[in-house]
Amino acid sequence: MMRKMFRIAFLQCQIVKELPHMNMPLFVNDIKALGCGFECICASRSKLEDLIKYLKKKKFDLIAVDYTFPVVFLNELKDIFSKSKFVIGGNGFLDTFLKSKIDFAVIGAGRQSFLGLVKALKNKSDISMIPNLFFKTKKNNRTFIDYSGKNLNFDLKRELFPYHPFLKWKYIGFTGRDKVVDPPSIIAEFGCAYRSGKLNHYYDNLSKGALSRNDFGAKARKRIMDLFEERMRGGCSFCTCTGTHVFLPIKETIACLMEQIHFLQKTYRFKSFAIVSEYPFRFIEQLIHQMVEENIDIEILAIRSRVDWANKNKRTLLKIVGLAKKNNFMISLQQLGFESFIQNDLDIYNKGYRITENFKAVELIRKLKSIAPGNFQDGGHGFIGISPWITLRDLEKYCESAEHAHFLFDLFNFGNGLVLYDSCLPIYQKLKKDRLLIEHKTDLDCWRFKDKNISRFINDFHNGL
Ligand code: SF4
Repeated sequence: MMRKMFRIAFLQCQIVKELPHMNMPLFVNDIKALGCGFECICASRSKLEDLIKYLKKKKFDLIAVDYTFPVVFLNELKDIFSKSKFVIGGNGFLDTFLKSKIDFAVIGAGRQSFLGLVKALKNKSDISMIPNLFFKTKKNNRTFIDYSGKNLNFDLKRELFPYHPFLKWKYIGFTGRDKVVDPPSIIAEFGCAYRSGKLNHYYDNLSKGALSRNDFGAKARKRIMDLFEERMRGGCSFCTCTGTHVFLPIKETIACLMEQIHFLQKTYRFKSFAIVSEYPFRFIEQLIHQMVEENIDIEILAIRSRVDWANKNKRTLLKIVGLAKKNNFMISLQQLGFESFIQNDLDIYNKGYRITENFKAVELIRKLKSIAPGNFQDGGHGFIGISPWITLRDLEKYCESAEHAHFLFDLFNFGNGLVLYDSCLPIYQKLKKDRLLIEHKTDLDCWRFKDKNISRFINDFHNGL
């Protein structure tokens, strides 16, 4: 009898139509080599019913989802496809996994673990020793969360190579007018060097006991505690990015990026690339020289960083904008995390710098725009907005800062950007300690303002009172 093909669906959820995140596309080639069938779908978050309609005609053995899907939707999907197994991964996976009916979660380095999971499910063998894998077990009708107990650290080369990302995904729920505008990511490193900075006094005395749940097995409990401790070592208090900063020496970083660029240009004809590194200043000049030397056709090179690091590297920014002018392409500066224009908020977010850095960065962006309007682009930045602890006095100051915010952000508002993907985040545990957390069973938890008058002030501000 012929053996039925093992079929996998890769699903990602998007607010605007963009390329898929560059992890699942790399897994596709691995599972093709195992003889599995696959389908890759990016679904519009506002039209998830279209995705259900489409999937109902299909049968998958394994459905891999990213953490941006709403928990309620994932539970609905699991009810419809009760025979399929579900796996989730990516930096913000934790609470979606804990609150949903998803069977498995991969924490950290995913490529080898995902492949191990596929092989085990396909061959109906044991999954409990697969590195970085959380799984659910049933005892006396109760579900327990367990972990393999094996940790596999990020290794840049192992995660990226062989490099054959599959990027021809099906889009569901978008209109014909929606165009994919973002360039593909090229990965220079994992994690962020700022993770080695310390958390400030706001995060003293947070108890990890708050994370303990009685449905965790011993190994799962230990892995979750380790994750919390990793987050408590430093970095921005709301950020789910991985704790260890993994990078290669400059020469190897450039070789690694050039291999990705060559593949993406040759296979998909991309001329624009977004570099995944919080500190691209380390290698960006050499990379541009290498791209020019190897005749790479460049339209846009997007880089990202922190506000204070961009200020500190003003000379490098001026130099690379000069190189962009000379070679006729665009530098797009993106994802500087401005977060707020109030010092207390920056401290709560543990940004680790003075608010003047934000104002300096606004001036720097203005300057770069004015000296090279055709070769420098302001590509959109992070702005969480006001924190739950904001006082009325600070809120008035914040409204005065709107002139800076208006320059960078089309829609100035008070921000609602603090998303609690993960209960291991220091800011999550501080909200819990300060009794500002609003817990939900089947949705991510959210928060309330410490000062009850803040919501009234915001409403009055919006109504022009
Ligand atoms: S928000 Fe940015 S700077 Fe802060 S820890 Fe995360 S990646 Fe690093």
